[in-house]
Amino acid sequence: MKNKCVEIWDKCLSIIEDNIPPQSYNTWFAPINPINFDNDVLTIQVPSQFFYEWLEEHYITLLRKTIRMVIGSGASLEYSVIVDNNSTDKSKSYAVKYPATDKKATQNNQVSMPLDLNKGKTRDIPNPFIIPGLKKLKVESQLVDTYSFDNFIEGECNRLARSAGWAISENPGKTAFNPLLVYSSVGLGKTHLAHAIGLQVKKNFPEKIVLYVKTDQFINQYIDSVRNNNQNDFVHFYQMIDVLIIDDIQFIAGKEKTQDVFFHIFNHLHQNNKQLVLTSDKPPVELKGMEPRLLSRFKWGLAADLQMPDLETRISILRKKLYKDGIEMPYEVVEYLAYSITTNIREMEGALISILAQSTLNKKSITLDLARQMIDKFVKSTTREISIDYIQKVVCDYFSVPLDVLNSKTRKREIVQARQLAMYFSKMHTKNSLATIGLHCGNKDHATVLHACRTVNNLIETDKQFRVYVDDIDKKLKL
Ligand code: ADP
Ligand code: MG
Repeated sequence: MKNKCVEIWDKCLSIIEDNIPPQSYNTWFAPINPINFDNDVLTIQVPSQFFYEWLEEHYITLLRKTIRMVIGSGASLEYSVIVDNNSTDKSKSYAVKYPATDKKATQNNQVSMPLDLNKGKTRDIPNPFIIPGLKKLKVESQLVDTYSFDNFIEGECNRLARSAGWAISENPGKTAFNPLLVYSSVGLGKTHLAHAIGLQVKKNFPEKIVLYVKTDQFINQYIDSVRNNNQNDFVHFYQMIDVLIIDDIQFIAGKEKTQDVFFHIFNHLHQNNKQLVLTSDKPPVELKGMEPRLLSRFKWGLAADLQMPDLETRISILRKKLYKDGIEMPYEVVEYLAYSITTNIREMEGALISILAQSTLNKKSITLDLARQMIDKFVKSTTREISIDYIQKVVCDYFSVPLDVLNSKTRKREIVQARQLAMYFSKMHTKNSLATIGLHCGNKDHATVLHACRTVNNLIETDKQFRVYVDDIDKKLKL
């Protein structure tokens, strides 16, 4: 049944591809070979044990839903793990039966929310919003366990948003932070924090109804309810929620009808001291296409932003992730990743996953060299921007000067020279202003930085040994 299994797996892939970022798809799904389909059992071949474990840990829900959708409810999935690259008959097999007893599905009074997976396809849930005669509503919160406060590293970059979120989870609906609007550009932790708040509320108040929805899901549900003529059910459903978390609210911009219905839901919840948590990729003032009456309500509570974490926090985030997944990696590699990727946390995690995948697929150990190659190949063009931090690190390593000495007030000649070089390279390789560079290099003003750049330029022309330093460091920066 070779062709059949390829056909089935292709269908699965097209669903999976729609539901995860391209980088994860390429890393974890593209290398899989479908090898058999028989009696509703699909067998897929994966390149290593680690690969199998990673899939089971991170993508089990997606895989389960996908194969159920493609094959039907009796579907099961089997893995064939390649143990030795040269001989496939040394492979191990794992049978994973889906559906494993799905507790949620067998609970009575379960209200199923339409999933993103079903987008654009017919749903087999005729009316997701209401179940007649319900005593106590049970809602699938759609919260992801790993997006917890425990796993959310605290730093200057997220202090306000995080503590407001924590306060809310101790006292939902009763703090001044209602609504809480968390905003930032992509990949800086809005979704993670939103889930963390929901999870923490559930921990503190198990009886409270918490719901996490993405804005596009909310919009699609609303459109469906109009089509099925059950808008009232839709509104009632949402008005019963105790903690409503809506992710990426900017997508509601320009959608007048949805804004209108959201306005009513918002008012009802707010008046009844129910908590609202919203996330957005822009601060409220910059949200275009939003009705003024809604915007003004967003400002009733607290708008808090998330920034790119500083180097130390980035390292902690990576280490936490490795620790959680039980993976060991040399510290210098972790440090290198944190130094090189300064765009956002998601990209940093993406690079980490690529390095892990590369090392397991090719059975190479994880070294600084491997990390460099990967970063160059996968993320250089978009993210490898040399930062002031990185320049300082390279200069300090080159002259064997500790970072705190470089940035201290000392006027020792060698230190001054190293500091001036750090300033010079920061001017050359980053887009930072003279003032910012000064601030990072020992709290100096912009005139000092300008002076440093001139001095370095002069020395390059007049001092041969100095020119060697400059060339060496420049090469190291571009490695
Ligand atoms: P956004 O919703 O802002 O685009 P996400 O919440 O999806 O960003 O975060 C991107 C990735 O970065 C996620 O894997 C998330 O777990 C991780 N992340 C973000 N902030 C932190 C943090 N403070 N500590 C640990 N991981 C974080
Ligand atoms: Mg998000």
